Amino acid sequence: MTAQSYSAVIRRYGEPLSVEEVEILEPDPGEVVVRIEASGVCHSDLSLARGYYPDIPIPIVPGHEGAGTVVEVGDDVTSVKKGDKVFTIWMASCYNCEYCLSGRFHLCENALESIVNASLPSGKLKIRDKAGNSIHHFTSTAALSSYTVVHEKNVVKLTVDVSLEKAAILGCAVLTGVGAALKTANVKEGSTVAVIGLGGVGMNIVQGARLAGAEKIIAIDIYDSKLEWATKFGATHLINALKEDPVEAVKKVGGGGVDYSFEATGNVVAMELAYKIAKRGGVVTIVGVEKGGVNIRIPALDLHMTEKTIKGCYYGSSSPRLDSLKYLRLYKAGKLLLDELVTRSYRLEEINEVFKDMEEGRIIRGVVVP
Ligand SMILES: [Zn+2]
Ligand SMILES: [Zn+2]
Repeated sequence: MTAQSYSAVIRRYGEPLSVEEVEILEPDPGEVVVRIEASGVCHSDLSLARGYYPDIPIPIVPGHEGAGTVVEVGDDVTSVKKGDKVFTIWMASCYNCEYCLSGRFHLCENALESIVNASLPSGKLKIRDKAGNSIHHFTSTAALSSYTVVHEKNVVKLTVDVSLEKAAILGCAVLTGVGAALKTANVKEGSTVAVIGLGGVGMNIVQGARLAGAEKIIAIDIYDSKLEWATKFGATHLINALKEDPVEAVKKVGGGGVDYSFEATGNVVAMELAYKIAKRGGVVTIVGVEKGGVNIRIPALDLHMTEKTIKGCYYGSSSPRLDSLKYLRLYKAGKLLLDELVTRSYRLEEINEVFKDMEEGRIIRGVVVP
């Protein structure tokens, strides 16, 4: 059976999205249809709409933080059944390539291929517009929809009692942010940390650093409202980069710099700032997504003499299936905040408004309830 869905569609990069009635084709073996009941809007959905990934084909349905109910299953599906509550993850790790076999599921080369092609893992496109033309699936999930068809590898069954609105943001913001601190950078107890950019990912880096037992956590942003909010997640020092020189301010708090600096804005200036505020021997983790073709400038002699480490961070170096359920248990134990991450709910028709609120720093995470 095919399903009718309302979906946000990017038809042209740099232009407002449309919300369209589309058809979701029936699942092949291994695939499921999910009725999406909540879908977080991530900065990379916004970056996609702005045209930051010009090689990703359009038209495309964005969205990768979906949560909802499985309404149909294809043959050979084993991990979920009809009626299960699930949330999406945006790597359909194959469990078979050299990366998966070495436990680095977030680097799976086969999942990456479907992300680049903006298709399902099978390579197929299963969304049709009214004229019958195919539409692409962002990160194989296309979750900014009322229904979506995904491979079962792209969903995790919700085994903990939590609302779908909260579960939705596990799939990217929490996995990426908490993972950046705990797994990519491996923040040590008693260390100093600075986080630049306090969106959904940045706030989770702050709370990841808190979970790791960092002694000082410096939050840096240009909005006072977000800075204040960061104290809930564990920030111990706040710097408004418009009001004071962040390099000097961090040096003062961190005694010359921090052990771990993180960039979570997707802006190259912030990435270079992250390098500057790390102390000698420090670890610089670049989490944000810049436009294709932009380069970070690092002073070569300084890099030699300070022995800093610069790390890229993809999906928080997570094992998405395992780590997301671990973070849910931490939430249930009162150790990880989820409720405080969702600032506002929107209807799908308001998708362009969510993007505007993100750009103007009004929300941490907006969740669309289709
Ligand atoms: Zn995301
Ligand atoms: Zn793989």
